[in-house]
Amino acid sequence: MATIDLQQLRKSYNSTEIIKGIDLTIRDQEFTVFVGPSGCGKSTLLRMIAGLEEITSGELRIDGQRVNEVAPAKRGLALVFQSYALYPHMTVAENMSFSLKLAGVNKTEREAKVTEAARILHLEPLLDRKPKDLSGGQRQRVAIGRAIVRHPRVFLFDEPLSNLDAALRVRMRQELTKLHRELKATMVYVTHDQVEAMTMADRIVVLQGGLVEQVGTPMELYRQPANLFVAGFIGSPRMNFFTATVQAVSDASTALALTDGTLIHAPASASSLRVGDTVTLGIRPEHLEITGAGAIRAQVQSVEHLGSDSYVYLQASSGEALTVRVSGETKVAPEQDVQLAPDLSFLHLFDATAQRIF
Ligand code: ADP
Repeated sequence: MATIDLQQLRKSYNSTEIIKGIDLTIRDQEFTVFVGPSGCGKSTLLRMIAGLEEITSGELRIDGQRVNEVAPAKRGLALVFQSYALYPHMTVAENMSFSLKLAGVNKTEREAKVTEAARILHLEPLLDRKPKDLSGGQRQRVAIGRAIVRHPRVFLFDEPLSNLDAALRVRMRQELTKLHRELKATMVYVTHDQVEAMTMADRIVVLQGGLVEQVGTPMELYRQPANLFVAGFIGSPRMNFFTATVQAVSDASTALALTDGTLIHAPASASSLRVGDTVTLGIRPEHLEITGAGAIRAQVQSVEHLGSDSYVYLQASSGEALTVRVSGETKVAPEQDVQLAPDLSFLHLFDATAQRIF
């Protein structure tokens, strides 16, 4: 359906630059998620693609054709917002067919397209209802239906699930993923929620301060975060970080000392580093084990029991606040002194400029 190319895309409001030069290719039929903290420019970037925000400089191409100056309605895109913006006086069917009517599509074709969208979204029993008689999830499906009937080249979603409760968000995530498989359309989805990004995306674009931090599949970002920002942003609970000093570097391993002198031997080489360099060691909560013989000493501060899992919050003797994910049946309790063994095959190391070493 459509490939989208962003070349050195920039956006300024007066003298403030919000989007600071973004190069990105969104592949045909890919589900791409823009994720990042609030205010990083995700919505602005999506709205620039949609044509709702003027591009200050750079080039935007859809299927190879420059569209910087092309009006939103002529770009062949459909945008679904967080607020459903349904017409309250129209039925579900009328809401879905309205844009087709405006475009002069005849009644038979309109009905066929509404029927098809209703089937895909399981809205058939609701076609005669008014929006006020629908649940939040049903309204969101109607909003998506309005996009589907137009057979857009690209679907753009701006935080579409934010207004839904937690259980419904999980269900809608699965429905949107299924919809993507069924429609085989290019989709671009904006969210601040890294769980939505991880669960739905073919590729994630992590943004911060108007710049791309990293682009990759969910598991690439989880396994090989390019820098400290991505390491801390992707994964829940968040990755633990230790300040460390390089003690020795060889072809096969790197010895690191935590601030209390604890030695960690990482089975990976950091040839760009020198003895004495200050680095940050990252270990995810699921890669620390509470054992009788681990290298890292810590004291339990509190325990959260989630049922299947528990999160144990600790203070390391090297000073850092840590989180460890353990089985829901854990017996550890606050004030207990414990030892933590890192899974050495999942260590992350970042240099003084916050870039990934391994
Ligand atoms: P996100 O979607 O990542 O939360 P936005 O794209 O909405 O972020 O906003 C990015 C930045 O641009 C924010 O700092 C916001 O205040 C600023 N911004 C957005 N719209 C305007 C505008 N019309 N005028 C000035 N600044 C704006």
